[in-house]
Amino acid sequence: MGSIPEALTTFNSTTKPFRVLVAGGAYGGLSAALNLQDLCRGLPPRCGPSPDEADQVERPKFAVDITIVDERDGYYHLIGSPLALASDAYTEKAWVKYDDIPALRSPNIRVLQGSVKAVDPRQKIATFAAHGSGETLELQYDYFVAATGLRRAWPVVPQSLRRKQFLFEAGDHISAATAAKHGVVIVGGGAVGIEMAAELKLVHPHLKVTLVHSRDKLLSSEPLPEEVKDRALQLVREASVDVLMSHRLDRTEETQDEHGNKCLRLHFTNGHIMLADQVSMAVSRPVPSTAYLPSSVLDKEGYVRIQASLAFPTDSPNSSSHFAIGDLVRWSGIKRCGAAMHMGYYAATNVHQQMQLATGRIAAPNYLELAEIPPMIGLAVGRQAVSYWPEAGVDSGEEVMKVFFGEDLGFAICWNHLGLGVDGGKE
Ligand SMILES: Cc1cc2nc3c(=O)[nH]c(=O)nc-3n(C[C@H](O)[C@H](O)[C@H](O)COP(=O)(O)OP(=O)(O)OC[C@H]3O[C@@H](n4cnc5c(N)ncnc54)[C@H](O)[C@@H]3O)c2cc1C
Repeated sequence: MGSIPEALTTFNSTTKPFRVLVAGGAYGGLSAALNLQDLCRGLPPRCGPSPDEADQVERPKFAVDITIVDERDGYYHLIGSPLALASDAYTEKAWVKYDDIPALRSPNIRVLQGSVKAVDPRQKIATFAAHGSGETLELQYDYFVAATGLRRAWPVVPQSLRRKQFLFEAGDHISAATAAKHGVVIVGGGAVGIEMAAELKLVHPHLKVTLVHSRDKLLSSEPLPEEVKDRALQLVREASVDVLMSHRLDRTEETQDEHGNKCLRLHFTNGHIMLADQVSMAVSRPVPSTAYLPSSVLDKEGYVRIQASLAFPTDSPNSSSHFAIGDLVRWSGIKRCGAAMHMGYYAATNVHQQMQLATGRIAAPNYLELAEIPPMIGLAVGRQAVSYWPEAGVDSGEEVMKVFFGEDLGFAICWNHLGLGVDGGKE
């Protein structure tokens, strides 16, 4: 793209900047905010096609004020959670305070810690409760992006809202697990339970770790080929995790072992009994964090009924000013962080289209639209990983682990894809 004088390209330079409110500052939300920042500066969006192809496109610049709100005080690398709750060193790394993220250091981006409590799409006003002070603010916006994901229970996800508190929460959990003489039992052989068991065993090889699943196949609720499920079981066993398939936990009671030490006795519905010191449940069904949205835009489970453009349903007021991305949307495919970041890029592009429409630059928006997403997965199992997507089929091993997760359970891959280390003040 040739250089066009600023005055000609910044369409709203004489008016107020567009106000964009992004609820949720993780994979989806940060992707939406930072890709939009790029587009409004006339730059290729960071999560879009490679610059060679993208450079052919002319992007009008707009003045924009982006507000990101999140309950946490930092970006939490959720897919690293199983390792963050097993390794003290990784705990330190997995949560980066927003203040310490170079990409967010920009005069037109602000991050507020607190909860979105309500959104009125007709008035374009969100009610926000600040963390700590209890202060309630009304935030007016031109465009809104919902990226608040799913609520998940402890110990799948830390419940702390501040990094400092999280370090204690994770530290206590790790100390309790590693002191275990009778071992740790992880209940639930879905992706999360598998990763929790395998990471714990990897970091603490002396520990007896048992993965318990009520069905005869791991990943039983995922629409994946049997071969993926069988390979996952093989890798879990190769990671030296004990596996109890077709075992449903009935109840747990406090007891003492033969030396008088306190521990837990687990009773299974098939009559099996075992002792353990810690039981981690990885079975609870996550719920979309969408209670702040009008019920008319949600399905009966609380997921946002998006259009392919990621905009709110057409029957909702100002639907083309409201977008939803990431885990909280009703769309095909297994919930994945890659999908959340990709949707963030799409939403940013479509908000930028709306800005062009609002300033008379285009007559109709040319939206990026989501296609159906087939089931696909990349699952870390200790030193190895198993991957599947329809074109490539099933693959597994240490090389797959490197490709999908690098050396740090995907931290650097996500950090770099979102460009979080690039100073936000630079154009
Ligand atoms: C243990 C575990 C392992 C996983 N492993 C993988 C993996 O290996 N590969 C993969 O692709 N995916 C994996 N996933 C799934 C992946 O983490 C999600 O798909 C991804 O996090 C979705 O991103 P998101 O931005 O939509 O939501 P989230 O990452 O959940 O972020 C939502 C954000 O919104 C904030 N928030 C919530 N409610 C409010 C509110 N009312 N107001 C303000 N802020 C709010 C939260 O604090 C959070 O920061 C894993 C998930 C878990 C739990």
